[in-house]
Amino acid sequence: MEVYLDNAATTALTKDVLEEVKFVSEKIYGNPSSMHKLGVEAEKVVKSAREKIATSLSVSPSELFFTSGATESDNTAVFGSVYANSRKGNHIITSKIEHPAVLMCFDKLEREGFNVTYLDVDSDGIIDMEQLKSVINEKTIFISVMAVNNELGSIQPIREIAKLKKKYDFILHTDAVQAYTKIPESLYNMADLISLSGHKIHALKGVGALVVRQGTKVNPLILGGGHESGFRSGTENVVGIVSLGKAVEEKWDKERIAELREKLKSGIEENCDVKVNCYHDGESAPHILSVTFNGIRGEVLMHALEARGIYVSTGSACHSNRFGESHVLSAIGLSKNEIGGTIRFSLGKLNTEAEIDYAIECIAMEAKKLK
Ligand code: PLP
Repeated sequence: MEVYLDNAATTALTKDVLEEVKFVSEKIYGNPSSMHKLGVEAEKVVKSAREKIATSLSVSPSELFFTSGATESDNTAVFGSVYANSRKGNHIITSKIEHPAVLMCFDKLEREGFNVTYLDVDSDGIIDMEQLKSVINEKTIFISVMAVNNELGSIQPIREIAKLKKKYDFILHTDAVQAYTKIPESLYNMADLISLSGHKIHALKGVGALVVRQGTKVNPLILGGGHESGFRSGTENVVGIVSLGKAVEEKWDKERIAELREKLKSGIEENCDVKVNCYHDGESAPHILSVTFNGIRGEVLMHALEARGIYVSTGSACHSNRFGESHVLSAIGLSKNEIGGTIRFSLGKLNTEAEIDYAIECIAMEAKKLK
């Protein structure tokens, strides 16, 4: 049996998305900018996807811009806002557990002379609002805090951060890659800028979006032919965009996914010597489960599971960058050994109860062998 439990890394296409992708690849190959019939057809499907995605987030279609993925969305949000608003101040804030697509941008801005605050998180992987309130000031122009962390599933208080806009004039960005479709959009859609990615929600890789709420001053990053109302040039990835629209149309059964995660968690806890990180039923994203196996190297367990057809991630090897071992697990206070023993299980629409039963059986067996 093959059990794919690495859905926070990427997801497989669902049957309906795949069918739509095949249809559009074959039949709707025109350039949306072309004036003839084939161009108009392509423009129509892009418009329809834009409307579906915008509706799902309760934003206007004119506030949604397609990109090549969340890395581009994050880079555009950070650099685009900070450079456009740098006359107003030079203080910018983010958290220590952001994805490198955000952290690396802050790192660059810091080297350029911007004053950066990296917010701590508690052992539940949640930022400290008191710390934020103590550092924010008149010079703060930009805050970026992710809606859901990709290694822990912890949900950040985006709504609380947004309330600070009553007193301070800053742009709020949230990387909602792991939140979108998985937790209610009302928990993060009040941000000025929202990053999304297709391949985390059963759409194609290489497509994403950035929501830019009306009135938010952001410079475009990619210049050229003026596509996406001049905000993001480059011929639209029509097939990718349609796949994203289709994936959003097919609802996530959050309760079912949460039940499968609960089953997996209990099964692992009953059979192995573990510590489950940042798990709060109903208060963390339903698809992510971070587990530290005491006295076991996560990488070894990961490969033992792989040999049984089960695919998971280690807490330490998710980015080939300067962060090395997980900066996220380190930020919640795990020791080096604990970080090395941490596995991330992440569920998707396609997982079944039988798969979870099989996974528990194999995890129990392999963890016992490795102890
Ligand atoms: N932000 C988060 C939270 C992610 O999990 C990912 C995926 O790894 C990204 C950004 C980057 O997304 P993409 O692969 O679409 O560039």
